[in-house]
Amino acid sequence: LKEKLAFVNIYTYIHTKQEKMSEFKINTVLVTGSNRGLGFEFVQQFVNRENPPETIFATCRDPEGARSQELKKFSEKHENVIVIRLDSTDSASINATVKQVEKHLNGKNLDLLINNAGVLNPQSLETQTAEDMLQVYNINVVGPMLVTQAFHHLLKRYGEESNAKSAIIHISSLLGSIEGVPKMFSSFPVISYRCSKAALNMLACCHAVGYKQDGIISLAIHPGWVRTDMGGSQALLSKEESVGEIMKIISSLNETQSGTFVDYKGIHTPW
Ligand code: NDP
Repeated sequence: LKEKLAFVNIYTYIHTKQEKMSEFKINTVLVTGSNRGLGFEFVQQFVNRENPPETIFATCRDPEGARSQELKKFSEKHENVIVIRLDSTDSASINATVKQVEKHLNGKNLDLLINNAGVLNPQSLETQTAEDMLQVYNINVVGPMLVTQAFHHLLKRYGEESNAKSAIIHISSLLGSIEGVPKMFSSFPVISYRCSKAALNMLACCHAVGYKQDGIISLAIHPGWVRTDMGGSQALLSKEESVGEIMKIISSLNETQSGTFVDYKGIHTPW
């Protein structure tokens, strides 16, 4: 009996340790474009987690605007949700946000950054203009680049913490997959959007390699085709389903996923 008990104890110890090791712990998270669509859904699902983060920085470019009122009301009911202004294309706005986040964190790390803000303008090869191409690139690529650069020091792990990990999730799109172009081009040409998300995937990879020694995981995730203002009412997934699945990926994030492009189910997606 003694031997049996010892075996059970060792088994439970190893099992719990493995579970603990495989769980990606999030005490602090920042989401861009969190006033509506997938961004707001991320904030709500973080709050409703079994172990919610201590602080959720819910950023959006116009917290006082009509489109942010639902988020503001939600934050009034949940003290771990901090709404902060962040226009991801404006360096001054980003720097001001960093200062506020630093104050709240008070020496703690930022565990997770979700670069979610994005735009889609439906342009074909015939209608695509330089102006639109630059505007979409600015929001979908330059924005995540600037935001990540500005928050890098808070994501970075130092010295004895080197086993702990932080992560950057870039919300990308299957429409940015170069191998996927022949399948969906005629239905969704969206030139500027496709090019910007392909570039975002490259950025996610650069972050994965360049920030590896800082204990930072970086990956690109396609959320599926989701019913939001951007995805439209015909889309296949609800926000709850899409973000619910991405939450599962987040819970078990580890280094092996860094530098990959996966869909909301965690399935590898061709570049
Ligand atoms: P929505 O159009 O519903 O929301 C977009 C969000 O991005 C809004 O909060 C918007 O803020 C914000 N935003 C836009 N520009 C900026 C900026 N310069 N600074 C800060 N925030 C900004 O889109 P979704 O929720 O559907 O999309 C979220 C992400 O998911 C995007 O990156 C999108 O490309 C990606 N995606 C979505 C799919 C879908 O089917 N829905 C499919 C594949 C990818 P504001 O209210 O101020 O405009």
